[in-house]
Amino acid sequence: MQVIRNGLDSFSTVSCIHFIPRTNENAYINITSRDGCWSYVGSTGNMQTVSLAQNGCVYHQIVQHELLHALGFNHEQCRSDRDNHIQVVWDNVSDDHKHNFNVKQTLNQGTPYDYNSVMQYSKTVFSKNGQATMIPIPDPNVVFGKATQMSQNDIDRLKLLYQCCEYFSESRSF
Ligand SMILES: [Zn+2]
Repeated sequence: MQVIRNGLDSFSTVSCIHFIPRTNENAYINITSRDGCWSYVGSTGNMQTVSLAQNGCVYHQIVQHELLHALGFNHEQCRSDRDNHIQVVWDNVSDDHKHNFNVKQTLNQGTPYDYNSVMQYSKTVFSKNGQATMIPIPDPNVVFGKATQMSQNDIDRLKLLYQCCEYFSESRSF
C-alpha cells in the first residue's frame, strides 16, 4: 500500500496531477492486483482498472508507468518517431508479442525521444531467444529502459498535456 501511495503522491510533487480518493466520480481508477501490471491508455470515462499484481508489480517505477498509461501515455518504443531512435529486431521478437512494437500516434508534446523514460521498455523485452529486441539508433550502446522513476521528459509531457502552467520551470520552454 505504501509503495502505491508513494507512486500516486509522486505526481503531485512534480505536476498539477493530484490523485484523490474516489467518492462519487463516474470516471475513476480502480487499482487492484490482477494478472500482471497493466492499464488502459487514457480515461475510459467510467471505472477503469489498473492492475498491479502483488507479486511483481509493486515497485515505484511500475506504479508510475501504469498511472502514466491511465493518464494517456503509451510506451516510449511505440512513439510516432520511434524508428528514428530505436530499431526493432523483428526476428528476435516472439510472434505473440509483435503487436507490442507497433508505432502509434503518441502524445509527444514536443518532447524528445527519451531512452530514460519510465515508459521505455528494456532491451530484451518480448524476446523469443534472449537476444535484443531493440537497438538504439545511432549509438547501439546507449543504455535504455532502466528508469527507476519518471524522467524529466515524462514530467514535461504530463505537464504539457494537462496544462500545468504553474509548474513550468523558467529554464524550459515549449
Ligand atoms: Zn506499459
